[in-house]
Amino acid sequence: MPRILTLAFILSVQIADAQISSNAIKIRDSVYMAPVTGNVYLVTTPAGNVVIDTATAAMAPDAKKLLTGENHGPVKYIILTHGHADHIGGISLWKEAGTQIIAQRNYVEFVNYVTRLDGFFSPRNAAAFGGLPDEIGPWRGNFGAKIDPTILFNEKYEFELGGLKFELFSTPGETPDHLTVWIPAYKIAFMGDNYAGAGIPEPMSFPNIYTLRGTKPRWALDWIKSIDTVLALKPEIVLSGHGDPIVGNAEITRRLMRFRDAIQYVHDEVVKGMNSGKDVYTLMQEIKLPSSYNLSESFGKVSWSVRGIYDGYAGWFDTNPATMYEEPPSSVYPDLVKLAGGPDPVVQMALQKLAEGKPVEALHLTDVVLAYDAKNSAALKARLKALDYLEQKCRNFIEEGWLQYGIAKAKERLASSNYHPLASGQ
Ligand SMILES: [Zn+2]
Repeated sequence: MPRILTLAFILSVQIADAQISSNAIKIRDSVYMAPVTGNVYLVTTPAGNVVIDTATAAMAPDAKKLLTGENHGPVKYIILTHGHADHIGGISLWKEAGTQIIAQRNYVEFVNYVTRLDGFFSPRNAAAFGGLPDEIGPWRGNFGAKIDPTILFNEKYEFELGGLKFELFSTPGETPDHLTVWIPAYKIAFMGDNYAGAGIPEPMSFPNIYTLRGTKPRWALDWIKSIDTVLALKPEIVLSGHGDPIVGNAEITRRLMRFRDAIQYVHDEVVKGMNSGKDVYTLMQEIKLPSSYNLSESFGKVSWSVRGIYDGYAGWFDTNPATMYEEPPSSVYPDLVKLAGGPDPVVQMALQKLAEGKPVEALHLTDVVLAYDAKNSAALKARLKALDYLEQKCRNFIEEGWLQYGIAKAKERLASSNYHPLASGQ
């Protein structure tokens, strides 16, 4: 078993279950769930069906097979809880002539933003989650995304199908276009990824108010308000984009309030710290989530969210005049190596830091040496040791992904630094 229960493992279990079963999960009469990578839901009515989210393109056919095994009715509406790829990959599979596709209006800019920067995001997604980057074609321009929705709304949208009323609310959180689907007759709320962003089982994880693969600010106060919107509906069932249903208003309230309060706590501590003049690194070190919230940090890390909130409010300038200019701190790293008399003393100091249990300081020191000599094998070996040390202690699967990425990169460089054309006979 790996050191931590990775998302891939959790999802692979879900996928395996879905593939073994020939049936979708019946939530109640006329509501079905296909538990694939990004749950897909089918709500049936006498006048046709509503599909909520569509999974990744790769998993969408499996989800469709499970759900159409329950009901073959015409698809009158597809509702997209948000524009992430694991929710919109199967739209074309479900879309029929006359199917209406509904999203919150921010969907348009969100998918344009993701498409605008696809060459930037592709390798980062691959690094964070493992696997190879997608093939990216020529730049599609600033507004090059395919916009599937036929109905866009701002705050609220309602419709009725087969006597069943659907209410859709704008609930920005993990993304600015998040929406919640509410079926009053069933007291079911479909929350997208605003609660269970990765389907981590109880005790849930703190969310990613910032995610390392790159994101615009995820505004904490919006997210809190959105959870309040869901709580005010008094749902009896909450269905998420990932993970299992939450059943019973008492349990839903307990979990959502705890989650909301944790976001509020971290947000407010950052704001108080900013107002008292503390810098972002101090706050990343100081702000800890009290254990009473009983949330792990296996998905979102509090320190990353502290920085996400800080930078979301303040941007990049840290008041140090040196930071205003184009030359980064690393521009003088080679000079520091020269001052030290060469790479060896700096590498030794990195190893010393590691021995003292300071792997991040060790990494910084290897950065100093590698700015002087990018293929310095002693520095690369020290770097690998520091990354291994961090990976052994790691309890967050996104952090683990980036550590493994760093290890692979260091090994690549080490292999090329050991390459001696004469020795290899070429
Ligand atoms: Zn998702």
